[in-house]
Amino acid sequence: MQILVRCSKCDAGLPIRVADAPAAIRCGRCGRDIPLEVTAAPVAGRGVAPCPACRGGEFYRRKDFDPKVGLAVVIAGATISAIFYWFGRDLIAYSILAAAALIDLIVYGRLKDITVCYRCHTEFRGAVRPTAPAFDLHIADELEQEYERRIGRR
Ligand SMILES: [Zn+2]
Ligand SMILES: [Zn+2]
Repeated sequence: MQILVRCSKCDAGLPIRVADAPAAIRCGRCGRDIPLEVTAAPVAGRGVAPCPACRGGEFYRRKDFDPKVGLAVVIAGATISAIFYWFGRDLIAYSILAAAALIDLIVYGRLKDITVCYRCHTEFRGAVRPTAPAFDLHIADELEQEYERRIGRR
């Protein structure tokens, strides 16, 4: 199982492996020390709680999706189709737009689910099947604020 810890200071993503997780990691970008507390649960594949980075117990599930990739496909599709549209090839232009949307859909459907910590945005990939509920904006608001107060970011 892979864990991607988010630095609470600079938001850098710091990948660690559960099996040989250290007691603390240092952020390579800003030098902040982040204490880790990996419990037996994720190692044994029994869920991820509590979060090793913030001890939080609330998680949500989301697709392992890089929004930048999806956006790139849409932009590329729109650009190419605009060129065809400019030359009066409407039908080709619309087909390319539709194809770009379809590619996005297919890619999205094949993505695996990952588990994300509401508080510190640490991501959990692999061994553990994500059982957390879908993202809830209300919960996220509350827990993020609580966490940021605790680490003194607000
Ligand atoms: Zn950092
Ligand atoms: Zn956390």
